[in-house]
Amino acid sequence: MAPKLPIYLDYHATTPVDPRALEAMLPFFHQRFGNPASKTHRFGWEADEAVERAREQLAALIGAEPKELIWTSGATESNNLAIQALARCYRQKGNHLVTTAIEHKSVLYAYKRLAEQGYQITVLPVGRDGLLDLEKLRAALTDATILVSVMAANNEIGVLQPLEEISRIVHQRGALLHSDAAQACGKIPLNVRTQGIDLLSFTAHKVYGPKGIGALYARRRGGKPVELVPMLEGGGHERGLRSGTLNVPAIVGAGVAAEIAQQEMAEEGRRLAGLRERLHQKLQAELSGLRLNGHPERRLPGNLSLSFVGVEGEALLMGLHDVALSSGSACTSANPTPSHVLKALGLSDADAHSTLRFGLGRWTTPEEVDYAAERTIEVVRRLRELSAPPPRPAADPKPRWA
Ligand SMILES: *Cc1c(COP(=O)(O)O)cnc(C)c1O
Repeated sequence: MAPKLPIYLDYHATTPVDPRALEAMLPFFHQRFGNPASKTHRFGWEADEAVERAREQLAALIGAEPKELIWTSGATESNNLAIQALARCYRQKGNHLVTTAIEHKSVLYAYKRLAEQGYQITVLPVGRDGLLDLEKLRAALTDATILVSVMAANNEIGVLQPLEEISRIVHQRGALLHSDAAQACGKIPLNVRTQGIDLLSFTAHKVYGPKGIGALYARRRGGKPVELVPMLEGGGHERGLRSGTLNVPAIVGAGVAAEIAQQEMAEEGRRLAGLRERLHQKLQAELSGLRLNGHPERRLPGNLSLSFVGVEGEALLMGLHDVALSSGSACTSANPTPSHVLKALGLSDADAHSTLRFGLGRWTTPEEVDYAAERTIEVVRRLRELSAPPPRPAADPKPRWA
């Protein structure tokens, strides 16, 4: 059966809200609209109970205690809060912070701001497979290092970093580990205790929850609690660490999304990895000059980042207008800049520009994968024919005896 068009294969950018999460959210817009900060009546109590229930659901997903979570507006805010707060609270201990070249812009810009304020910043390179080199990490750490921020799963190439080993190295030097887990939470098993993660950023809209809601986990158990200071001050919500009336419907949706993810992660991961392999194999069987970006196994099940050597990604996307995908460029301006992640893997500008990111998710079907593969093959072939140099004129047929 032909799939319904257009097809959505951009699940790393955002995901639809799961209908089960949406249903749970709805009463909190109207019937149960109370402010959880209202302590004097039932409207407030009900809202507060719903918020705390969601906190438990999210905590269970990552192996945290509910009281270790602070609701935020998403991973951008959580990353900024974690990094800024750590830099301020631990300034006495040291002024050196470490991260990697493939982090999300919300981490990289937070670090850039700290560098402007006089902190020492190290941005570690990654290998061609997107993995952080643990020896380079070890060598970068000093007694002045207070924080290392390494993402759990990359949003472009899907690569998963070995957080457990990273945390061991980081803790040996007395520093703390922050991980941006926006793409990883609910997709792969994560446990802040066993993996030794001190701070973790979450956002709901990448795991079938609503946009504009996320959380920061900051360790309070197991050793000295992580110290924080707020970015937003006012009513003293979230133990004074993030003021502002809580977005109760969104929090309820985030909690249900986290619970569903926890229950369905294993099976969904297997299904998506199967579909991803199907897509990859179909493309590989029909096209030459195809390159997989990122480690072939240590990656998110729904991620496939491919460079189509010699093909302009923007032209490819235009040809694939009924398949929603991302390219390897930030097309925020007239001349797109190649993705910093692909550049960090060592790709040339041309190869970065010839990259497509396929992001498969909860509602991706085999029919959609097949359609996307067929269309991609067709468009890549057409573009390659167009850009192929005209056949050389036959050499002058000089007589052999001349
Ligand atoms: C989407 C994303 C973010 C930003 O999350 P928002 O909730 O949209 O602010 C941060 N880091 C990674 C890895 C992401 O994929």
